[in-house]
Amino acid sequence: MSLVVMKFGGTSVEDPAAITRTAAIVAGRVALGKQPVVVVSAMAKVTDSLLRAAAASEKGDRVAALEISAQLRQRHRETAAQLIKNPASSTELIEFIDQKFDSLDEVLRGLAAILELTPRISDLIVSYGERLSSRIVAAAFAELGIRAIAVDAREIVITDSTFQKAVPQDALIEKRASENLLPLINQGQVPVMGGFIAANEAGITTTLGRGGSDFTGALIGGALEAEAIEIWTDVDGIMTADPRVCPDALRVKIISFEEAAELAYFGAKVLHPATILPAVKKNIPVLVLNSRNAACEGTRITSLAPHCRSPFKSIAVKKRLSIIDVVASRMLMTHGYMKEIFTIFDKHKCAVDMVSTSEVSVSLTVDSNDNLPALAADLGQLADVKYEGRKALICMVGDDIRGRNGMAAQVFSAIRHINVRMISQGASEINMSFMIDEDDADEAVRSLHAAFFQDPDPTIFDVEARRS
Ligand code: ASP
Ligand code: MG
Repeated sequence: MSLVVMKFGGTSVEDPAAITRTAAIVAGRVALGKQPVVVVSAMAKVTDSLLRAAAASEKGDRVAALEISAQLRQRHRETAAQLIKNPASSTELIEFIDQKFDSLDEVLRGLAAILELTPRISDLIVSYGERLSSRIVAAAFAELGIRAIAVDAREIVITDSTFQKAVPQDALIEKRASENLLPLINQGQVPVMGGFIAANEAGITTTLGRGGSDFTGALIGGALEAEAIEIWTDVDGIMTADPRVCPDALRVKIISFEEAAELAYFGAKVLHPATILPAVKKNIPVLVLNSRNAACEGTRITSLAPHCRSPFKSIAVKKRLSIIDVVASRMLMTHGYMKEIFTIFDKHKCAVDMVSTSEVSVSLTVDSNDNLPALAADLGQLADVKYEGRKALICMVGDDIRGRNGMAAQVFSAIRHINVRMISQGASEINMSFMIDEDDADEAVRSLHAAFFQDPDPTIFDVEARRS
């Protein structure tokens, strides 16, 4: 079998033109003899709008909530009307859209009366985005000659009841996928389902967390043992650096799962870190591809990357961070001190990115946020505390960094003109990170890129693009 899961993000289904491009890509795979299962996100920005509608309702602003819903209804209706010319299917689809928005409006009105938005209701409200997009996309595919069939993801992707971040139940998903999807695929049909949305065993709607459509793609790919999972987005793949900062950034042709996961954490915006897991477990390659540039071969993410001549694959940056310095002489030779510090971070629900310690001080980095003064006040009970914002974390990713001599010297000499605040290499063999001022970040990336990607290995990087 040559089953491929093709996941298309919000920008790949954002309007009739994007959906038509997406259809052509899927039709191309079918023509090659592939058996696609298509997973789509909600149309771009729809999830955000639904969450705004929910927030307005919760505050009792029924009018604002229904206005957002009316605009969304309009957008979905227009998209459907432009794509579907066959009168019978057009009427059927528009009726479906109206029914969904009627029921969404009911929920929003109810919420405006009870004024309490639970995670469960939030999941129900956002689920409309993918329920609608998958139906519209399936209808558009059919119109263009693909034997597409819409499948409600909530019948396949079964999770626990942790609303807004539900945990998939692998065995059940496998069972449902083989019972409900395989027969369709074997008949030559192309199932089209929404990503991100799921249901618990009782059939109550859940979601996998924001950006969760990639996760759905990987879950379905894993359950069906697909030969590949394609993540179609609007960039050419994983790059050696952000091309807006570094114009001679190159596409990375192949990268390991671990390296990609490190990068995903930095919001490389290319894929959701959790995408990695179900695919890794089954050794299924993941391809990141561009639906606006389908000819580009993208980035292939595999369990083991081939050997690379140069140490690093990509330079990622995370901005808007703060450094918190905790200095206490009573820390000297005591145990349990770190625990106390982390308990305070936990209390403020503040995730720590990087930690470095000396005998009497600890420096930690966190996302800059409004809780910092309160957090610092609590830490102040234990020690002297200082915090400073506008910091950036630079993360150099590549396999086998530890196995090479002189890496740190090369990295820091490339940025010797920049003040480095914290350094971490840690247990990971594939990540070397350090903290600098946010204002120095772009310059640091350019200097590092110039130092490490001067003579890129053509098996790993798309050097053709640089030559042409
Ligand atoms: N539509 C969802 C979101 O915006 C899921 C996704 O696009 O992956 O978070
Ligand atoms: Mg996404």
